[in-house]
Amino acid sequence: MTFPITDASPIRHAAALPARVDVTVIGGGIIGVMTAWFLRQRGLSVLLLEKGRIAGEQSSRNWGWVRQQGRDLAELPIMIESLGLWKDLAARLGDGLGFRQSGALYLARTDREMAGFQEWLTSARAFGLDTCLMSGRETAAMLPGAVAPWKGGLWTASDAKAEPWTAVPLLADAAAASGVLIRDACAVRALDLAAGRIAGVVTEAGRVACDNVVVAAGAWSRLLLQRHGVRLPQLSVRATVAETMPMPEIFPGNAADDTLAFRRRSDGGYTIASGGSEDDFLIGPDAFRSFFSYLPILRHDPRLSRFRLAAPKGFPDAWSTPRRWAEDQVSPFEAMRILNPAPNLKTLSRVQDAFAAAFPSLGRPKLRTVWAGMIDTLPDVVPVVDHGPIPGLIIATGMSGHGFGIGPGIGRVVAELVTGGRIGHDLDRFRFARFTDGSTIAPGPSL
Ligand SMILES: Cc1cc2nc3c(=O)[nH]c(=O)nc-3n(C[C@H](O)[C@H](O)[C@H](O)COP(=O)(O)OP(=O)(O)OC[C@H]3O[C@@H](n4cnc5c(N)ncnc54)[C@H](O)[C@@H]3O)c2cc1C
Repeated sequence: MTFPITDASPIRHAAALPARVDVTVIGGGIIGVMTAWFLRQRGLSVLLLEKGRIAGEQSSRNWGWVRQQGRDLAELPIMIESLGLWKDLAARLGDGLGFRQSGALYLARTDREMAGFQEWLTSARAFGLDTCLMSGRETAAMLPGAVAPWKGGLWTASDAKAEPWTAVPLLADAAAASGVLIRDACAVRALDLAAGRIAGVVTEAGRVACDNVVVAAGAWSRLLLQRHGVRLPQLSVRATVAETMPMPEIFPGNAADDTLAFRRRSDGGYTIASGGSEDDFLIGPDAFRSFFSYLPILRHDPRLSRFRLAAPKGFPDAWSTPRRWAEDQVSPFEAMRILNPAPNLKTLSRVQDAFAAAFPSLGRPKLRTVWAGMIDTLPDVVPVVDHGPIPGLIIATGMSGHGFGIGPGIGRVVAELVTGGRIGHDLDRFRFARFTDGSTIAPGPSL
């Protein structure tokens, strides 16, 4: 089966461009959609612009884990809120989100991994989660028929899952029904600045005036921002995923060890991927420029530097991608409507082997759909959620591989940043300026 959201997918949202709105949101992934939703709920007029199709990039391609466990402690309060928002959204929008609190289980093969779980659990104790350590025997009882030699695990029963490629389009439909103006296949070429502040956006279909712009452009945020001299050391890595044919249920939730990650899908298959750091680092000029910013995370987790391939043509960090273009010129965003990297089939073959080795009674899973996504990341693997250095600019990007679960919570927080409402969380760790103000870059947990 081909991936369900492509350049050929019908255009679902074709709002006429208004002359003026209160806020323009750039990017129709989960962050942009949820931000637009909460802004509209606060009574603002909102335009959401997506260069390709809603959820065409990371927000449909992810594993569908909605997890608290293993998170950076600064993200946890927002994630806890986000879980509550997912529950409300599921109650409101029905079963199409595929939302279930069926738990998340990390599996350890070594004492070192168990110690890492214990360390995180101790540090997160104050948040009152239901997370606990499981012994080898307890883990084996949770995964009947498994033969893998796990020493134990980290288990959060309240953690959840949702079906990314149905959930995010449904959330966008709900946002549109609430009055958000959404336009697919409409790239923002540039921010429109007047007297040093945001005056609007320049799109491929014309200009729209607004006082605030939210950049939630995923892997493209750096390229868009740097056109205006706003520097962000964002890079992206390719991650490969597959959907299996329907198979018997071995575990209802999400589980991962260092070789295999799997999530039971609503349709009776599994979403599977490598559990370790087998992502492909695609190199371009931005990667070179940001090398020193990434040294702390490379030291922290040397596996991240394993692959070095040139970013393909048209990708945000390809050598040939223009870094400057005029407002009346086709921009790199229109040249690549949907970032659709080729999956790494060798990685997938190893994942199939790992599944068969762990669950011999099920055998090697047959794959229905294979795909890859570009995970956008920042040097400390936590996002920027902050006002940008231009008045009227708000940045919500760099979700670093865990933005799906926290998306509703981030959307609510960003809406408060725009409106000056009560945020309710400490956003200091997500400051835009942390990469330039001499702060020590402390990578979040790589659990
Ligand atoms: C393989 C994989 C597995 C993952 N697994 C998980 C998981 O299990 N749980 C979890 O919480 N997270 C996971 N993630 C991370 C999660 O998917 C992302 O953090 C999240 O989807 C990011 O959402 P976003 O809205 O910031 O970006 P995106 O979903 O990438 O959306 C950005 C959108 O902006 C659009 N855009 C860019 N530039 C412009 C422009 N100039 N004009 C108009 N539109 C523009 C793009 O077309 C794109 O649709 C995973 C990611 C991947 C790739």
